[in-house]
Amino acid sequence: MIYADNAATTKLSRSAIDAMLPYMEELYGNPSSLYSFGQRAKEVLEDARARIAACLNAEPREIFFTSGGSESDNQAILSMARFGEKRGKKHIVSTAFEHHAVLHTLEKLKKEGFEITLLDVHANGVVTPEQVRNAIREDTCLVTVMFANNEIGTIQPIAEIGAVCREKGVPFHTDAVQAAGHLPIDVKAQKIDLLSLSAHKFHGPKGIGVLFARKGIVLEPIVCGGAQERGKRAGTENVPSIVGMTVALEEACASMDENAKNLTVLRDRLIDGLDNIPYAELNGDRIKRLPGNVNFCFEGIEGESLLLLLDDKGICASSGSACTSGSLDPSHVLLAIGRVHDVAHGSLRLTLGEETTEEEVDEMIGAVKEVVTYLRNMSPFWRDLTEGKRKHIFEE
Ligand SMILES: *Cc1c(COP(=O)(O)O)cnc(C)c1O
Repeated sequence: MIYADNAATTKLSRSAIDAMLPYMEELYGNPSSLYSFGQRAKEVLEDARARIAACLNAEPREIFFTSGGSESDNQAILSMARFGEKRGKKHIVSTAFEHHAVLHTLEKLKKEGFEITLLDVHANGVVTPEQVRNAIREDTCLVTVMFANNEIGTIQPIAEIGAVCREKGVPFHTDAVQAAGHLPIDVKAQKIDLLSLSAHKFHGPKGIGVLFARKGIVLEPIVCGGAQERGKRAGTENVPSIVGMTVALEEACASMDENAKNLTVLRDRLIDGLDNIPYAELNGDRIKRLPGNVNFCFEGIEGESLLLLLDDKGICASSGSACTSGSLDPSHVLLAIGRVHDVAHGSLRLTLGEETTEEEVDEMIGAVKEVVTYLRNMSPFWRDLTEGKRKHIFEE
């Protein structure tokens, strides 16, 4: 099997598993318990908090453990909305290609009377700090722009957007789920007020994540109950997962440069290989993109059929986002970069990881070429194109 869906989730690292096991087998105490067996768990929790903070150049008290990226996004946005609302500020700036954890939270707020400005991300999938500056108003209570896009891998100018928000005095949240462990993050230098990350995107366990909230930011709990996480997130802490996430993040950050270098070579080899297929185009900026992300549109192809045939060849790929599979709507990200419906349906995302080899990349190029040709030969839509009854959208 070739696993090329690392943007959907990653394999748990061996060292994360090894670090987690003692907290499941022996040291299973509750960090809130007063006896020393519980207090040992509490110490481990605070050690993890400090180590995660160090990876982001944050303070330990600015780190809150959550169940993952979706929860962190929800809490960051809802907290700033409630804070703004009390001061008569009900305008939020975001982009059209955010993850659904952000977009659906914004839709909910819109129904409550908030005004949402979704910035255009241009054909290359990148927003500019000027767009953010122009969108900010007197009543803006939050700017939320993702660090790197999960479908097309494009990287946003986060430090520059952070600087604009800080200058304007507007809180800035970034969904850094695709960036954490893959791109350098420094919440101080990049002037980030709130940041979401999720462990399972950098070889940590599923169901655990972090919400960073800068000192002075007022968080609103969305899970209510006990006083864990300084009253901002109730529920007994998932100590084994928190330990696994910490080890995975440290590991990813320590090998970030080397991984990025290797992945970029493989990514570019894959992009060049797929670019040879006629009527195919890369989605998103070629340079400002995550080291492991490849995303193409093929004319005259149905993405779902492509995925199923690749699965038959043992290749795990995606048509964009795991969340949109099963729906007939084309990806909102591809529509946001201006792809028309017909080609947006024919998308393929291959996201490489540290274990991907050059041989696998070559095998993927061969398999995609074969499957695309096969599907096109069967397609009446494609026959219309070749017979000139329809116009091509891409160049050959
Ligand atoms: C995966 C992902 C999420 C959701 O994270 P979970 O931990 O699975 O809830 C949010 N945003 C982005 C950009 C993602 O890639």
